[in-house]
Amino acid sequence: MNDDLETQVCMLQSHMDGMILRAQKNEEMLKRFQELDMRLLSLNSLRELIEHIHDDAQLVFNLQSLSLVLADENNEIKQFLTEDGFRFDEYQGVIVLPDTALFKDKLGMSQRIVLGDADEVLPTEFWPDKKEMPKTVAIIPLLRRGVYLGCMVFGSDDVARFQVDMATYFLDRLGKVLSVCMENTLNYEQLRRSSLFDTLTGVNNRRFFEQRMDEEILRSLRTGDYLSCLFIDIDWFKKVNDNFGHQVGDIALRHVAEQLRSQLRSNDILARYGGEEFVVILPTAPERKGVEVAERMREAVAKAAVSLSTGEELNLTVSIGVSTFVVEEPGISKALDRSELIEVADKALFLAKKSGRNRVLSGGEVVAISGVDKQSG
Ligand code: GH3
Ligand code: MG
Ligand code: MG
Repeated sequence: MNDDLETQVCMLQSHMDGMILRAQKNEEMLKRFQELDMRLLSLNSLRELIEHIHDDAQLVFNLQSLSLVLADENNEIKQFLTEDGFRFDEYQGVIVLPDTALFKDKLGMSQRIVLGDADEVLPTEFWPDKKEMPKTVAIIPLLRRGVYLGCMVFGSDDVARFQVDMATYFLDRLGKVLSVCMENTLNYEQLRRSSLFDTLTGVNNRRFFEQRMDEEILRSLRTGDYLSCLFIDIDWFKKVNDNFGHQVGDIALRHVAEQLRSQLRSNDILARYGGEEFVVILPTAPERKGVEVAERMREAVAKAAVSLSTGEELNLTVSIGVSTFVVEEPGISKALDRSELIEVADKALFLAKKSGRNRVLSGGEVVAISGVDKQSG
């Protein structure tokens, strides 16, 4: 009888030990998981989010392998990430899939985690290396308001790790938190871009130009570097609209923007100032260089006719005014208002128009000296 009781106590004790151990493990997991949650919620850019989830999930969930598959119907995500300096070659586990219907086909719409042996449940499209497939996987759908943002695949070489009957509380939660974070950062990136770019031509917009111009002026004042500004206006553009309609006018605008852009280096800034007018900032360029770039742009536009769907060819030209900021005493020169530099270029443009169009004219240098700005020309 006593022996029996002792055995029972022993069994209970070991049962309790097991429960305590499991509770401790769960608590640890919860703590690490909450830290991951907090980190994800604090990130602002898509690039940071992708990098963090990729690196942290492996640690928190102790995974051998992982893939993060992003649904990217319009090639937008790839572009955001590339522009932000994301290294796809360093993050082989990050896959961008333009075929968004695939997610619905393979995972359904229930947002349920798919668990099991990789060769049974893992679509090969969701894994980067077909030769090195994991043994078991958990596929976490990333869905928001019925739209697939992608999915995340946790891989393990342990055949017992991800099986159908396992509890998925943490994975469910991660899927939901990550979906909200992704939706947020995507919205934020879209908003950020629409505030910097012109939707018709894809070049920067006026707001961005004004910000950058102020920054570049301050930089020149500090370093003493030249700064040239080009003001560009398409010649007789009203006639294009009048003769061919506004849609062709829009095509022509995009075409001109493309020609202008083709002549610039990566540090130069091209923006649509308004209507059929563009501006260019050329950091470090003296007047001679500014005129040279303007001349190249004028020539590029004049040479490349727009081919219309009717088979007709549309020839366009631009007139360009140039102005250059010169800092004689770096560090102590008086600040310059951007409108002065634009005004000089704009006046030169007006003269270029008056003297026949399809030409470049320089308005000369705007010199900043200590205490006063003066124009020489
Ligand atoms: P100039 O050589 O003197 O510059 O002649 P212009 O006809 O280009 O000058 P004007 O400023 O009179 O005309 C500009 C035209 O640009 C008028 C407007 O209809 C057109 N325009 C401005 N923005 C857009 C746009 O976004 N799309 C289209 N299709 N046309 C635009
Ligand atoms: Mg105009
Ligand atoms: Mg014009």
